[in-house]
Amino acid sequence: MASKKNVYFFGKGKAEGDAKMKSVLGGKGANLAEMTNLGIPVPPGFTISTDVCAAYYENKNKYPKEIKDEVEAGLKRLEAVMKKKLGDPSDPLLVSVRSGAAVSMPGMMDTILNLGISDKSVKGLATKTGNPRFAWDAYRRFIQMYGDVVMGVEHSKFEEALHALKKSKNIEMDTDLKAGDLEKLVEEYKQIVKKNTGKDFPQAPLDQLWGAINAVFGSWMSDRAVRYRKLEDIRNLKGTAVNVQSMVFGNFGDDSGTGVCFSRDPSTGINEFYGEYLMNAQGEDVVAGIRTPERIATLAKKNPAIYKQLVGIKNRLEKHFKDMQDMEFTVQQGELFLLQTRNGKRAGTAAVKCAVDMVAEGLIDKITAIMRVTPGHLDQLLHPMIDSNAQKGAKALTKGLNASPGAGTGRIVFNAKDAELWHGRGEKVLLVRKDTSPEDIGGMVVSQGILTSTGGMTSHAAVVARGMGTPCVAGAKGVLVEGNTVEIGGKRFNEGDWITIDGTSGEVYEGKLPLVAPSISKDVNTFLKWCDDVRAGSVRGRVKGFAVRTNADQPEDAKRAFDFGAQGIGLCRTEHMFFDKEKLIHFRAMIVAETEEERKEQLKKILPLQQKDFFGIFKAMEGRPVTIRLLDPPLHEFVPHTKEEVEELAGHLNISAEKLHSKIGTLIESNPMLGHRGCRLAVTYPEIYDMQVEAIAQAAVECAKQKIPVHPEIMIPIVVTARELRLLRPNAEKILEKVFTAAGVKVPVTIGTMIEVPRAAIRSAHIAHYADFFSFGTNDLTQMTFAFSRDDVASFLPFYLEKNVLDVDPFKTIDQDGVGGLMELAIKEGRSVKPDLKMGICGEHGGDPTTIDFCYRVGLSYVSCSPFRVPLARLAGAQAVINNSGKNITGGGSGKTKPATAKVKGSKKTVKGDKKMAVTSAKKKPAAKKKTAKKTGAKKTGAKKTAKKKTAAKKTGAKKKTGAKKTGAKKKTGAKKKTAAKKKPAAKKSVVL
Ligand code: PEP
Ligand code: MG
Repeated sequence: MASKKNVYFFGKGKAEGDAKMKSVLGGKGANLAEMTNLGIPVPPGFTISTDVCAAYYENKNKYPKEIKDEVEAGLKRLEAVMKKKLGDPSDPLLVSVRSGAAVSMPGMMDTILNLGISDKSVKGLATKTGNPRFAWDAYRRFIQMYGDVVMGVEHSKFEEALHALKKSKNIEMDTDLKAGDLEKLVEEYKQIVKKNTGKDFPQAPLDQLWGAINAVFGSWMSDRAVRYRKLEDIRNLKGTAVNVQSMVFGNFGDDSGTGVCFSRDPSTGINEFYGEYLMNAQGEDVVAGIRTPERIATLAKKNPAIYKQLVGIKNRLEKHFKDMQDMEFTVQQGELFLLQTRNGKRAGTAAVKCAVDMVAEGLIDKITAIMRVTPGHLDQLLHPMIDSNAQKGAKALTKGLNASPGAGTGRIVFNAKDAELWHGRGEKVLLVRKDTSPEDIGGMVVSQGILTSTGGMTSHAAVVARGMGTPCVAGAKGVLVEGNTVEIGGKRFNEGDWITIDGTSGEVYEGKLPLVAPSISKDVNTFLKWCDDVRAGSVRGRVKGFAVRTNADQPEDAKRAFDFGAQGIGLCRTEHMFFDKEKLIHFRAMIVAETEEERKEQLKKILPLQQKDFFGIFKAMEGRPVTIRLLDPPLHEFVPHTKEEVEELAGHLNISAEKLHSKIGTLIESNPMLGHRGCRLAVTYPEIYDMQVEAIAQAAVECAKQKIPVHPEIMIPIVVTARELRLLRPNAEKILEKVFTAAGVKVPVTIGTMIEVPRAAIRSAHIAHYADFFSFGTNDLTQMTFAFSRDDVASFLPFYLEKNVLDVDPFKTIDQDGVGGLMELAIKEGRSVKPDLKMGICGEHGGDPTTIDFCYRVGLSYVSCSPFRVPLARLAGAQAVINNSGKNITGGGSGKTKPATAKVKGSKKTVKGDKKMAVTSAKKKPAAKKKTAKKTGAKKTGAKKTAKKKTAAKKTGAKKKTGAKKTGAKKKTGAKKKTAAKKKPAAKKSVVL
């Protein structure tokens, strides 16, 4: 550490760092340096690097010795530039001490302003500035902030004293307090500190400085910061930097002020200057939402010169950083200073609009645009809106600021704790508060929406809600919170009452209004089309393109997914079609049938109903592939449970309820998930799958006759051995042949299988002989690999996550080392037999961005996810292509690793990854890399083990295969693709089940 530079100075038009040094200087420090270098007015200061934070924690919360000297040398340099000394009794230099990690964590870490004031220097400050009110106000603010952040005195204690003083003076605004009032308040504040900590408020400037630096570094590991990083999946950062910067004052009087502004509207993305400011105030007044600020457009009227200068700077910064900027500024006695600029957090709508507009403006290219929008942003766009019919009939109670788009409906709660508590009980809650603060984050996350009575578009509530994609109406003046009741537009509501907010319009409604899913806008369509082009142009070995399909079981779902851009159906769970009341009774009758004839009789009744659904789905998908999975779940899931249901079925079958009861009893299993399900059902009762295949074939014939393009794929679930397919596949082929011959049409139908049982993954080379495609059923594969029941995992998984036994929920994000390892094995083995074997994923993981990246890397042809996640998957897939371009990735079907390539339509260049893109994805990439590295090792060991096992197995009599495999493997390594293809028949011959 000694040889390393730890403190970086900026000021007077020159800085020791720049924007590229975010990992060392943090985002704030790096951009302060960059702005200084650009000649933008920035108050001078220095940044203590993030390495010091890392060393501080490695060193058990102590700094390496040399840091003290380096920081104090930085201070001396600052004092020299400012021609003032920190805490000087006659003319003190005051500084701010602020956090700033490489990735922005708004409001999650600590900040101290006005540091350097003491009992002595406050008087010097008053004399020097000729403004005693300002000096005492700065001192009381300092004690309040320092007392809270560094000394741990509850913020509310100071607030109560301030409130009491205003009340005694019959004053509403802080700004109406006089110098003498504030001097008294300072005295009171100091006593509050003494009473609550047993210590005097520190007077020595260096003590104050180190106290603040410690607090900022300490806040890196505060509960809220740790929680935020977890929520936002921010990993692999060294820590926070600390920025010590000379103060400028927005609270100097009426010619001073402070504000926050965005180069474009962060809610809508519209290219217009957007922001708010407060005169005679300091930054925290704006961000904390304590006073409701004025719109930036008003500044144009009130101070045109400053406004013009500010507009010039925002234009310059946006052009320079090529992204929408979020800036903090202060005006001190008519002079403008920039205190921060960063890429602005934005709502989903704004993210897409900015990306599309900036491409049109020539500011960025399409690849950069794709990397700018996160899958979370797109998810937000698909957030519900209030049903327009219901909205027409409802009258808004009040209107606030449309701080975060989308609609939310829930029961009123008044604090974050209750929000979490109620949410835990399964309630939908809507958090109603005067304002929010970082402590509220837990409650905000679980709320359907957030409504505040104060604060503007940049208040804590607004910024955090936008980041999370939670609807928010902020600063609604018609909302008056009083204890556990609230008056909204003159009407009183209690805890637990339902309200609905529309974060897109800012309106608040009484009751629970129905919400509907929104449609996709023109900008989103344009943007997603770019994503589709990137995925379509990707090449991994023999695998071309990377498609997004959907899981849909009903024609309406299929239609919706088609509208969202699904390129096919990856999973149609046919059992879901039986839940329909009309089909259910026949299906139940079929299940309890005593004889094959009876069963076939019932199946005949179901056939036309299934056929109708299949036809609807084929039609909706307009010729795109539709994978229909034959019946999967255990039969007993469908048996009647209630007395009424049993009686109804008994009546339908004309048998006694007792007789039916005893039949139902025979269907009950101890471990249904491992019981009589999937293709096992068809091994026992082939007529079930026969009926389904016939319905598929008949629906395809109907399409063909109506000239509707159709592309069916039949999928057989829960396969554990190739022999199941060897038995069942010919049955299906026979029926297809029969139906098509009778109708005189020919529709190509492929027959594939799911890989969702570990044994199937291990034996996939054999299974591949009988399958035209594989689809990874990662729900079951995860369940069976972990031996975690899908249905019961909630009882222990939270503890696994909390105690870091697992990093993520393996049912949400694929476990790359374990389940992923099995997938890689299956891909390799499957493609060793059929090099072009199409493979996809249809488990819930198919809509998870991290999993999508993994699926791309291992060579899957497509991912399939629920309709609402399709847009997100289209983007995540494109980002996976871009992120992995030029890298060696596995599973491309050639048996060798090959560098992946991607092309963007309209560009001759192959995508090689762009530095700018890396910024957006930086937080995730290292983690992914680490995992890949680990995995490679694990995989090798795993592969070795498998090889050993195979050798052992061979001894039991499978000698022939040993030879065949070895030869195959050898030839494949050196041979060209053609040789591999030629080898196919030989491999087929040697199949061992
Ligand atoms: C799976 O197991 O991943 C799958 C898609 O099938 P299901 O969820 O229907 O069991
Ligand atoms: Mg399954």
